[in-house]
Amino acid sequence: MNKTVQIGDLAVEVVRKSIRTMRVTVYPPVGRVRVAAPLRLPDETIREFVLSRQAWIHRHQARFAAQPHAPTLAYCSGETHYYQGRPYQLRVHATTGRPCVKQTEEYIHLFVREDSTLTDRAKVLAAWYRAHLKEQIPALLAHWEPIVGARAEAWGVKQMKTRWGTCNIQARRIWLSLELAKKPVGCLEYVVVHELVHLHERLHNARFWGLMDQFMPDWRQHKAALQAHPTGQESGAGPDAD
Ligand SMILES: [Zn+2]
Repeated sequence: MNKTVQIGDLAVEVVRKSIRTMRVTVYPPVGRVRVAAPLRLPDETIREFVLSRQAWIHRHQARFAAQPHAPTLAYCSGETHYYQGRPYQLRVHATTGRPCVKQTEEYIHLFVREDSTLTDRAKVLAAWYRAHLKEQIPALLAHWEPIVGARAEAWGVKQMKTRWGTCNIQARRIWLSLELAKKPVGCLEYVVVHELVHLHERLHNARFWGLMDQFMPDWRQHKAALQAHPTGQESGAGPDAD
């Protein structure tokens, strides 16, 4: 009998079989996780096993997500969309009023015109993600600028295909990827610090990573989450912040 259980941040399909050892498989295209386990193995042992393989599972999911044939989002009810690292089920509602988004514990409700196209829906959700990022970033800059000892003259959010953030050192201007809204908050924080550190050091050299160690000792964990955490659909953003 199959059942789906939540282990850490993963929804795992558990299949009991008359086998001797556990096996975990990650399936394309969306990175569905399935564990085949011996019939009488305790649930707790399965849980521990999956948690011990979590990084490996995330790596595979990220690889599938980054593939060009990853399914594109349809923006229809039932689809999974990510916000701040958490999956939400999308519910699309018809409205004659202004298009908007309302988030609840489990759902992201998308209110759009009945005749809205996929592009219209994508735009409404993107605007919502953008608004949330723009709300968070000033506080993050205010917190991190004194720690890093560098100030950004300007910042913005935009859709980027291959990067999580960029820093124009001459203009002291930072751009952050819209995709960061889908990632855990620590990821956004990591990219903000990363770009601020570029105001001291242009290159990803020993000095750069040394400064990262100094200002944000746990940066590796956030960087790993950035690469590993699924967002349903990736825009193909690369592993580095820029
Ligand atoms: Zn960089």
